Amino acid sequence: MAGKKHSASRGRVGNASGSGALVPVEESLALPVVNFVPIVSSYNDRIRPLLDAVDKLRHLNITKEGIQLPTIVVVGDQSSGKSSVLESLAGISLPRGQGICTRVPLIMRLQHHSSPTPEIFLEFNSKTIRTDEAQVANAIVVATDEIAGNGKGISNSPLTLVVKKAGVPDLTMVDLPGITRVPVKGQPENIYEQIADIINEYIKPEESIILNVLSATDDFTTCESIRMSQKVDRNGERTLAVVTKSDKSPEGLFEKVTADDVNIGLGYVCVRNRIGDESYEEARQEEAFLFENNPHLSKIDKSMVGISVLAQKLVHIQATLIAKCLPDIVRKIHDKLNANISDLKRLPKTLSSPAEALTTLMGIIGAVKDSLKKLLVNGEYDEYPDENQMHCSARLVEMFNKYSSDLNNSPESDPTRDFLIAEVRVLDEGKRIELPNFVPRNAFLAVLQPKVHRISHIPVDFVVKIWDYIEEVVISVLMHQSENYHQLEASTRRACRNLMEKMKEKSINWVLEVVQMEKLSDYTCSPEYVTEWNKLMAAQQVFFDLVEKNQGSNINIEGLGLVVVKDDLRGYMPVLRQAYDLKMRMTAYWKVVMRRLVDSMALYLQLSIRNLVNNELEKEIVNQLMTTYNGQIEKMLEESPAIAAKREKLNASIRLLKHSKDLLANIMDNLTSVVF
Ligand code: GDP
Ligand code: MG
Repeated sequence: MAGKKHSASRGRVGNASGSGALVPVEESLALPVVNFVPIVSSYNDRIRPLLDAVDKLRHLNITKEGIQLPTIVVVGDQSSGKSSVLESLAGISLPRGQGICTRVPLIMRLQHHSSPTPEIFLEFNSKTIRTDEAQVANAIVVATDEIAGNGKGISNSPLTLVVKKAGVPDLTMVDLPGITRVPVKGQPENIYEQIADIINEYIKPEESIILNVLSATDDFTTCESIRMSQKVDRNGERTLAVVTKSDKSPEGLFEKVTADDVNIGLGYVCVRNRIGDESYEEARQEEAFLFENNPHLSKIDKSMVGISVLAQKLVHIQATLIAKCLPDIVRKIHDKLNANISDLKRLPKTLSSPAEALTTLMGIIGAVKDSLKKLLVNGEYDEYPDENQMHCSARLVEMFNKYSSDLNNSPESDPTRDFLIAEVRVLDEGKRIELPNFVPRNAFLAVLQPKVHRISHIPVDFVVKIWDYIEEVVISVLMHQSENYHQLEASTRRACRNLMEKMKEKSINWVLEVVQMEKLSDYTCSPEYVTEWNKLMAAQQVFFDLVEKNQGSNINIEGLGLVVVKDDLRGYMPVLRQAYDLKMRMTAYWKVVMRRLVDSMALYLQLSIRNLVNNELEKEIVNQLMTTYNGQIEKMLEESPAIAAKREKLNASIRLLKHSKDLLANIMDNLTSVVF
């Protein structure tokens, strides 16, 4: 029904027009396909809504969402005749001539309409400008200047030309700047790269059909546009060639297009465009005459010549392309829309009341506590599976083992070092009139105290290191949980630093107290101390025999190892036995001290970390926030500008995709009934 009306109006307008629109078949002299009008118009009627939908999607700029549209892209070397071909298809004048005329991508939408008066407008920079056939070339120049500047520069932002005219094929094509190797005066040095980038962007997507415009006067194998399209479409499956200027170089053209040296999968169409002041109608007649009568050109099959054939092929290709691509586009829009909606859902809510803010704050603190409990107390890493630094219990054990080995490998823990020197000095200076075989307790303490003092930096350094590490972990967790609220981020970071300073100070005080206790008294209930001492004392007699007989200076003491007997020890013979006893008590007792330092540290850390996670952190954060914001919770949960921008972007994208989806929903139901 629609088809009938369409072809009828086409015939009527065609007769009345003479304005250079595509000539309907009855008027054309040499069109190869007799039923040209019904075929094209029936395609038109069925494909029209689909093409409209695609054009609307293009207008919405859906490509910026990464969704490519089926597009016929016109490429060609400079002055190969691209604009002339489009002119011929549209039946209007485009800026033409030597040098670079097309400086922005020109999206040309041709739409057949039944009114005898053409409607032509330009859309660019979010505005629509109405023009007419007489003015259109000039209007395009003005618009191009506005988009790409007055000079000879080019721009990637497109200009859309809508031509609604009786008899034109329903086609949308993109005309691109011609490829030029050598910049002319006033053009940037990298003009070639700039143009190549734009062309590549358009021809790369699988959804693009490449309409390669070649001049009959050129050797196709050296055409830059062929080289570029072959890069993205090696076998030419989506490339169609239009050979212009057939009139200028008819000789050998038949051989050129039949040999197909350059892999054009969709075939060649040879044309002759309008020359000089010819009307479009005259031009079509000249073209038909030329291909009929020129001895070289008449050899070419009629299915490969003329603008009408080109129009027909393009309409067919476009219909097939759209039908092929649309289901994919619908799917991509659907997927992208869902992804964006769930991204948006993951963004934090905008908080509108103190109650909401408080709930959010409590939620964040709760989540921080949960995470820290998992990491620091329970050793569960499911939230940070790949970040080893966050696997706290394992890292803490490693640090702790290092602490223990630092203590046990320190010089103070080596009983053979400076053997008996400290002991004899203390005993010699503390000698009193008393029985010789007592070891005075004050002598023991006098040796113990400096020894403890010399290792006291090890536990101090260790607690500092531990809190530095825990600070890193806590800040990571805090930042992760409060990342959407920049004020909160800053405050909690500060709170965490303060708290860690306090924890560190408290721990150092505790360590100093422990050290102090170790210095002050000597006590253990462990029976191991006595056992160990007895074992070491068993070697006493052997040792003294050797010393007294002056036999060697390196003596192996069982349970202790090789000791060096320094010469000056012999001068202290009277206190040497006491010194030996003292040394062995010290050696046995030192092990107890070391173990106590390690064990108590382990228990202490467990307790402090638990306190931190369960109470201290929350208290500190709340205090910090309350003092900074004077109790105004909404302020501390103000959204960060980055989040606001992200939300805006997602919302815009969702609007666009929803719009696109609705647009397609109406026509997709009909798509299945369109059989090509
Ligand atoms: P573009 O740079 O690729 O857009 O090329 P134009 O369409 O501006 O054409 C360059 C020149 O070639 C213009 O002077 C056109 O008139 C001329 N031209 C284009 N097609 C034909 C044709 O089929 N025959 C003849 N003789 N000249 C043509
Ligand atoms: Mg041009």
